[in-house]
Amino acid sequence: MRPQPFQDHSSPRPQSPDSDAQGQILPGSQSDTGTECRDLVNLEALGLPNIGNSCFLNATLQCLLVLPVFLQEIHRQRIENLSWLSSCYNLHSCLSEVHYSCQPGSGATEEYKEQILRTVKYLLACQDRKYLQDSQQDAHELLVNMLCLLRVEGRVLVELNQGYISPVSHLEFLMASVLSCTSCGRTSSNSEDYNHLSLDISPEGTLQDCLALNFKSCVVDFRCPNCDGLQASRREQFHTLPRVLVLHLKRFRHRRWGVQKLKRSLLIPPKLSLSTLCGDDVPPCTASYQRNRPSPTWTEDPVTSSGYYQLTGILSHLGGFMLSGHYVSDIRAANGKWLRCNDSMVSVSSEASVLRSRARSAYLLFYVYRTETQ
Ligand SMILES: [Zn+2]
Repeated sequence: MRPQPFQDHSSPRPQSPDSDAQGQILPGSQSDTGTECRDLVNLEALGLPNIGNSCFLNATLQCLLVLPVFLQEIHRQRIENLSWLSSCYNLHSCLSEVHYSCQPGSGATEEYKEQILRTVKYLLACQDRKYLQDSQQDAHELLVNMLCLLRVEGRVLVELNQGYISPVSHLEFLMASVLSCTSCGRTSSNSEDYNHLSLDISPEGTLQDCLALNFKSCVVDFRCPNCDGLQASRREQFHTLPRVLVLHLKRFRHRRWGVQKLKRSLLIPPKLSLSTLCGDDVPPCTASYQRNRPSPTWTEDPVTSSGYYQLTGILSHLGGFMLSGHYVSDIRAANGKWLRCNDSMVSVSSEASVLRSRARSAYLLFYVYRTETQ
């Protein structure tokens, strides 16, 4: 069934990057007029209905749509291209619509939300037909496909709007691979674009240990052009830093008999520094998004290794098997409140409770760059 264009039930407006939970009215938050909105809390509105084993999609969307910079570009594109690109046939518009439909007071019904979510799946199915089925899929793979589709659409949108900035660019960073010849010490490097980082789960049990393991130097075969040496030490370093850091924890291992899930416990820090993982012998870290950022829409601090990353979302997989079980998300609103999202059910929680309960099931982590002044 082809999806129908969205109804114009809301009036999209740009969000400032520091708006409260991207427009969501949450306990203890202030409305645009500064009025206390405690009485207007409608957590039910924040939920997304399950349209048939679609928890992998809901949990991913709930984590993505709480990222201020990502959301800002999503909404801006929809508004600036509203004249003839407002149809449901692009993911930018769909994600914008998902977000607005989850706002208290949007008036969006469950049926309407279901229609948008089916459209998202339909668009993703253009890349991989498995999303047409009502079957459980891997949330990490979905995230990769979704970011890829946004990039593909961006190639069209940039032609229409010279100020177009891909929402994905805020997640991107350059990773440098530095080779040092073990014989003469000659150093060379190359860098690759990433929009998330996949990490092995170390036995030590902290996220910093996982990162240290990933960035540990190793000896590789290498023909040195300087001394004809045959080996080099290789280490990975951040060459640029993203504004949004997405970490994928490799909980699923493919074995001859199937896929094994690692339920190893992991200590997840609410704040994360990457300063020790940025190399001194590569150029200073700068925001990768600035490379294709012709007209900044707001004043931002540059992303440097002196800042830190604030945890804003955890996507967790519950259950023992990759293509079964259940996905849920926990998201941090701008006012610091944590919300537990289980498809359409949303409840208020605390950071300590979230970190404790997701230690063995966290699968994707979403961190947002901050400076001490923010
Ligand atoms: Zn050499």
